Amino acid sequence: PFGCHCQGWVRSFRPQKQNLFLHVNDGSSLKSLQVIAPAAMNDPLLGFGCAVEVRGILKKSPHSKQPVELEAEQIWVIGECNPVDFPFKIKERHSLEYIRQFLHLRCRTNAFSSLLRIRSEATAAVHSYFKNNGFLLVHTPTITSNDCEGAGELFQVEPPGTTFANEGSFFSVPVYLTVSGQLHLEVMSGAFPRVYTFGPTFRAENSQSRRHLAEFFMVEAEISFTESIEDLTKVWKSAFALTLLISWMELFHVRCPITYTEAIDILKRSSETFTFPTDWGCDLMTEHEKFLVKHCGNIPVFVTDYPHDLKPFYARDNQDHPKHTAAAVDLLVPGVGELSGGSLREERLDLLRSRLGECGLEDTYSWYLDLRRFGSVPHGGFGLGFERYLQCILGVDNIKDVIPFPRFSHSCLL
Ligand code: ATP
Ligand code: MG
Ligand code: MG
Ligand code: MG
Repeated sequence: PFGCHCQGWVRSFRPQKQNLFLHVNDGSSLKSLQVIAPAAMNDPLLGFGCAVEVRGILKKSPHSKQPVELEAEQIWVIGECNPVDFPFKIKERHSLEYIRQFLHLRCRTNAFSSLLRIRSEATAAVHSYFKNNGFLLVHTPTITSNDCEGAGELFQVEPPGTTFANEGSFFSVPVYLTVSGQLHLEVMSGAFPRVYTFGPTFRAENSQSRRHLAEFFMVEAEISFTESIEDLTKVWKSAFALTLLISWMELFHVRCPITYTEAIDILKRSSETFTFPTDWGCDLMTEHEKFLVKHCGNIPVFVTDYPHDLKPFYARDNQDHPKHTAAAVDLLVPGVGELSGGSLREERLDLLRSRLGECGLEDTYSWYLDLRRFGSVPHGGFGLGFERYLQCILGVDNIKDVIPFPRFSHSCLL
């Protein structure tokens, strides 16, 4: 037994004739410390949810459930809590939708505090993977004048009071919140063969989908001297294996990859299953992606070689293919569909220039052409939605339940 002083929140409170029994949680884990106090110490402010400070003697517990308990000598209520007003009731199971209405109190539930711990560990695992594999971390900008060529709907940014047409606008050019750090990573990959970034990404998604947010975190990597999709997916696979997923990802060797053309054949054979039947040349929709994953045995699957026209100007042209495709790949996973997308980038100056010309973008991207003019190498990369990764490894149905402060259309609480 030794003297102990603890601070935390009361997770349960049982006053009995002789003693008070409290479970006090200090936030270091889900476990609470049992505190026993003589009934005389009862205080009308003491109860579920309040913040307390307890001084007492820590003793070996006679019960097998917990190793130690605290015999209180003094209890101070630091912050009271009226349990009638508190939206989460002890011993009641609330739905995730219900809890989500109280974003400011959500981290006090076991379910969400556990999620936050895993999210924090997974963030550290991402950084340690890249660090241990020779990648340089680059902080790509949040405000940018490039729109990454249709990666997503843009949020335009200006200080209050500026009209966008105004010549005197803050940056003198239209600027946006980043939809992807890829082009900035490509700049860096001209000097550092392995680079990555991991930060907030913004897309004005017009959907109420369970896998889209207006602000999400993306892990993006760019690898130089990569000549084939196989080289790229090798790094990709090991990056996603990270920590928890290693054994699960071994399944990768079972069935992958399939080409987009094979995927369309599979989907057309089951076209009656879909609200939106598909055809060669159409982008895959969530329902198609989920179907393909099931069809392949409910395991992650890489889909390669998408139609060239579906992909942005930087995707590498597969010139030797009978159908006009690009060396672009998506990684589809159970429950979510697309977890990650990547491609080899067009490193050949003449092909890139003519593609940019076709899109009328040659002037806008003259700096990008410079990257091909001065020491261009075959390279490629991928982007992974960190929230979708969490959804996938934790089996969480709605993306709003894996981010502390979800932003989506018509909702920006707090
Ligand atoms: P989707 O087809 O689902 O809209 P995308 O093809 O537009 O995704 P990419 O531009 O390939 O997305 O971005 C790379 C990754 O970022 C995606 O594979 C996905 O995991 C994630 N992502 C994209 N948009 C969102 C979003 N709005 N919310 C959360 N994650 C997203
Ligand atoms: Mg999208
Ligand atoms: Mg997509
Ligand atoms: Mg994609």
